[in-house]
Amino acid sequence: MKFNTKTIHGGQKPDKAYNAVMPPIYQTSTYAQSTPGGHKGYEYSRTHNPTRNALENAFASIENGTHGLAFGSGLAAIDAILKLLEHGDEVISTNDLYGGTYRLFTKIFEGFGIKFHFIGMENAHAIENHITEKTKLIWIETPTNPMMNIIDIKAASVIAKKHNIMLAVDNTFATPYLQQPLDLGADIVMHSATKYIGGHSDLVMGALIVKDKKLAEKLYFIQNASGAICGPQDSFLALRGIKTLHVRMQRHCENGKAIAHFLKTHPNVDKVYWPGFKDHPNHQTAKEQMNDFGGMVSFTTKEDSYEGAVKVVEKLKVFTLAESLGGIESLAGHPASMTHASIPKAAREKTGVKDSLIRLSVGIEDIDDLIADIKQALA
Ligand SMILES: *Cc1c(COP(=O)(O)O)cnc(C)c1O
Repeated sequence: MKFNTKTIHGGQKPDKAYNAVMPPIYQTSTYAQSTPGGHKGYEYSRTHNPTRNALENAFASIENGTHGLAFGSGLAAIDAILKLLEHGDEVISTNDLYGGTYRLFTKIFEGFGIKFHFIGMENAHAIENHITEKTKLIWIETPTNPMMNIIDIKAASVIAKKHNIMLAVDNTFATPYLQQPLDLGADIVMHSATKYIGGHSDLVMGALIVKDKKLAEKLYFIQNASGAICGPQDSFLALRGIKTLHVRMQRHCENGKAIAHFLKTHPNVDKVYWPGFKDHPNHQTAKEQMNDFGGMVSFTTKEDSYEGAVKVVEKLKVFTLAESLGGIESLAGHPASMTHASIPKAAREKTGVKDSLIRLSVGIEDIDDLIADIKQALA
């Protein structure tokens, strides 16, 4: 089955009770048993819920995995991965990453005795310099947030396999429409389904997808033992979102490309970060591992100041000033004061997140309206 068919049918069967084409929302915590242990595969909804299971099957299908797991948020999904580790273990992570992931790693798991190395991975061989016997996990986000660097997943997976280390990829920005990390050698794919997967800015959810039964069993154990699951109503919404992922992504990519090119020639714009440009430092890798370049575009203004950037985002009318990304509506963010405020200024600027950086999540509105909006805000 091809991707555009999998988004609609992958892992889905008509519901057993009445052949409903869409999975019903099983809004229940528990299930009647005929005799102790006599049930139809469902005992308690932290462990299993039919609506969540339908979604988990869809996740597995669109990422070419064998098992999917749904969580109450993207961070809950990352938290579950980190619980595979033990005190003393080490993690090598992308340095330019989602602020909440950085906070979870440094403020929670460092306290439990896990050591993190944050490094630039645009040259994947840099990973090798930080591997010790204790390295258990390589954590990659690509494209990175918000600098739009591209990391070569295949090259990282070769290193991971050589040293018997797990490779996890945060695929939130790309989605499986653009890149499928398990096919490139990753062991775990993670999503903040809050973003493009849900696609309508109406839910918070996380997902993990794997292709190995043993790893899946460990993660299911953690999912049930720690309990950070999502509810049936949100599971239904995410499933509905997945069904249009391919058509939404196609338009996100078209609009993102048009805006990146518009910004590049604007006299008040300094740098534009978008992996589709031929002069983007990792353009070749992007072309090889992605089907297109996505709807995320970051840029800095020539008036290189915090106040200048704030003025621009405040003037936008069609773009909404908000955290988050990946919805059908266009959003603008100021990473230094919003998504990346939890990363200390010095660490933030080292990765290029300057005070004047603006991040756009380009939606699927008419491109003429989006460009006109940016034009008036930059004037
Ligand atoms: C939003 C986001 C997360 C965290 O997901 P939540 O659903 O907000 O918990 C992780 N990684 C990336 C790249 C994100 O954009």
